[in-house]
Amino acid sequence: MSTDYEPIIGLEVHAQLLTDSKAFCSCTTKFGNDPNSNVCPVCLGLPGVLPVLNKKVVDFAMRMGLVTGCTITPTSIFARKNYFYPDLPKGYQISQYEEPICAGGSVEIETDDGSRKRIGITRIHLEEDAGKSIHDIDIDTLVDVNRCGVPLIEIVSEPDIRSAKEAYLYLYKIRQLVTYLGICDGNMEEGSLRCDANISVRKKGETKFGTKTEVKNMNSFRNVERAIEFEVHRQIRLLEEGERVHQETLLWDANLSIATPMRSKEEAHDYRYFPEPDLVPVVINETWINSVSSGLPEHPTSRRDRFVEEHHLPKYDADVLTAEKGYADYYEGVNNALGAPTKEKAKQVSNWVMTDVLRAVGESKVDIGDFPVSADRLAGLLRLINDGTISNKIARDVFAEMLASSDDANAIVERKGLVQLSDETAIEAVVAEILAKNSPQVEKYKAGNEKVFGFFVGEVMKATKGKANPGVVNAVLKKKLTS
Ligand SMILES: [Zn+2]
Repeated sequence: MSTDYEPIIGLEVHAQLLTDSKAFCSCTTKFGNDPNSNVCPVCLGLPGVLPVLNKKVVDFAMRMGLVTGCTITPTSIFARKNYFYPDLPKGYQISQYEEPICAGGSVEIETDDGSRKRIGITRIHLEEDAGKSIHDIDIDTLVDVNRCGVPLIEIVSEPDIRSAKEAYLYLYKIRQLVTYLGICDGNMEEGSLRCDANISVRKKGETKFGTKTEVKNMNSFRNVERAIEFEVHRQIRLLEEGERVHQETLLWDANLSIATPMRSKEEAHDYRYFPEPDLVPVVINETWINSVSSGLPEHPTSRRDRFVEEHHLPKYDADVLTAEKGYADYYEGVNNALGAPTKEKAKQVSNWVMTDVLRAVGESKVDIGDFPVSADRLAGLLRLINDGTISNKIARDVFAEMLASSDDANAIVERKGLVQLSDETAIEAVVAEILAKNSPQVEKYKAGNEKVFGFFVGEVMKATKGKANPGVVNAVLKKKLTS
């Protein structure tokens, strides 16, 4: 493949907002209800009904606008986007066209080599979702209109993205932000976060854009990367062969790993946009902006940097812990319970969260906010390690027990008699017995084979069911073997 070309990519991301009711009526947005049960005359567009805007939808869109440095439009208006499709009973979608609620922001992505790049955000606008056509049932195509009127924001990027990897990183950032803000659950598989890509290629050094295509139906991060790579290569191949790229919409087929043409791409004028006559303009004043702005959570990037600077965590740890707000909240919850974090304590907490906690969270498929071993319970376990009551090894068993019972670490340690054996005299007795039983190994050690030392440690641990304090065992063994 020729490397004389560069891809020009812009993403349109739809995020379903986590409001209880729909954008313009009081129907529930609950996912998974019986088909066509979450509906009313308003979201079905029956004659004579009037939509009423849900205020929370505006709050949520403003949160995303503010966190990405957009300007909030003082007076934005809704528009009708007209098109015919079976899952759109009204025959139009209420959207925003000329005056979107937010415009002119950006997000920062960080590439593998650590360099940072800004990707511009052209606009964020409000719109309502359409229903769903279900094709994968033997009989006919079925329509479920529960989703009609569910609120969305569409985040439109500038064509600043130059590779499939950058597209992936940008989408990751958008997902991180909407979930931090609590405005979208970020679930790509269930379609609450959807991404379309506008792609063109041009010879390096050229300033004019080539003809672009739009790729849809990429319902996972991996598919976004693969689909973009596929389409970039397809366009370069066409140009190299002297052919033209046609402006069209392609559908990504994850099973076949190809994008196939769906239709020639619509232009904006195909939708006959006009201002929505049933809704008044959305007027946003400074007071409203300030109240939304003061309720924003700490930006994930600032939180990551704070973990590195104040807790002295390695950047890798800080990245993992701030990937989701719930992880970072949990990590900080453990630290808060243990008192101001020193470098060592913070790293200990980080290790436990990144390995044991996140593994168990993944296996049990619960949200970390509902994880049975709460931050306070984990802090209780770490306190027992730090004051020498139990060893790290025993702590892992106690942690497993805590997953199954609601007892705190202290109670489990007492109930199971797991208190670490640190008493030197008691350990000396065990060591003496082990050395007496294994005189050939003792000879080997004395002859200079230091590897045998590990064997003795293992035997002592076995004899004490893992409860012996490893520091004391090492000291006693050294003393006895050299005497
Ligand atoms: Zn409704």
